[in-house]
Amino acid sequence: MTDKFEKIRKMISETPLLEIEFKYKGSVRRLFAKAEYYNLSGSVKDRVAYYIMKRAYETGAIKPGDTIAEATSGNTGIAFSAMAAYLGHPMVVFMPDWMSVERINLMKSFGAEVCLVSREEGGFLGSIAMSEELARERGAFLPGQFSNYDNVLAHIEDTGREILRQLSDIGVVPDGVVAGVGTGGTIMGLSKSFKSVNPNCRAYPLEPLNSPTLSTGYKTGSHRIAGISDEFVPSICRLDELDDVVSVDDIDSIIMAQMLSRRLGIGVGISSGANFLGAVKAQEMLGEKANIVTVFADDNKKYLSTDYASEFEPRECYISSDIELIGYRAYR
Ligand code: PMP
Repeated sequence: MTDKFEKIRKMISETPLLEIEFKYKGSVRRLFAKAEYYNLSGSVKDRVAYYIMKRAYETGAIKPGDTIAEATSGNTGIAFSAMAAYLGHPMVVFMPDWMSVERINLMKSFGAEVCLVSREEGGFLGSIAMSEELARERGAFLPGQFSNYDNVLAHIEDTGREILRQLSDIGVVPDGVVAGVGTGGTIMGLSKSFKSVNPNCRAYPLEPLNSPTLSTGYKTGSHRIAGISDEFVPSICRLDELDDVVSVDDIDSIIMAQMLSRRLGIGVGISSGANFLGAVKAQEMLGEKANIVTVFADDNKKYLSTDYASEFEPRECYISSDIELIGYRAYR
């Protein structure tokens, strides 16, 4: 099994780090974004799926042929479906029924069984309960991304370490990191990793302005930034170990993602647009020269049937209205 993981290691990791140059209210700035859609199934979650499965084999938590069951809003399900196909495990995904059709079809394309859960059946929390029930009934393996600390470790040992190496190659030390919170694995892991080189590095968890679950502690409102702010604050997301919550508007995030695509040819998902805006907000707090790092969690292909493909009127209150993208450079 170790050999099987080693063989595909290079499909997950060593993604490009982008240094993006832009103008904000007239002054030239840069920020750094890790292009995570370069991973095996197209998102940051491939790192988590790889890490959790490898650990599960090492500890004996899973045996060949066991079913894997996971509740997910998309990318984790896609990543585990691809890993399950490669490792020869049946995969069952429980997912709220309001996620994009591309997500469902992608999981099915990797041979997974997809169970859609309506709001009446409990939505996100219902999906988690159903995956746990399947584990009890069929002895399925539960990656448990919302409560499994291996999710955080994947970002400390893998994503974070890689970004630090790429930044150090160009003589940069991170001053801050921003990441939208789904499970909180990315922001918790990157925060811990970056504090190892700069104890003053700030870590800002990001949430949608229209659905501020992190600030309130409960599900409220609705939003279009798929993959973040599901319905609750996950147990691995320790807000007391992080800095202020940063919030961004979801339409502003869509416009930002569209700008990255139209102006620079960087085709990313809506949460990447949100993270870019959050990184600009972090610079407003830490100074325009601050080295802020964020993550482009996935690309735009699974959003083509969503509001990502609609046109929205720019508004004066949007952060994107004050941003002009100039260019970018990629580092490996
Ligand atoms: N963006 C997208 C598109 C995602 O799928 C996810 C994961 N659900 C996130 C951001 C948030 O990542 P994390 O779970 O590590 O907080």
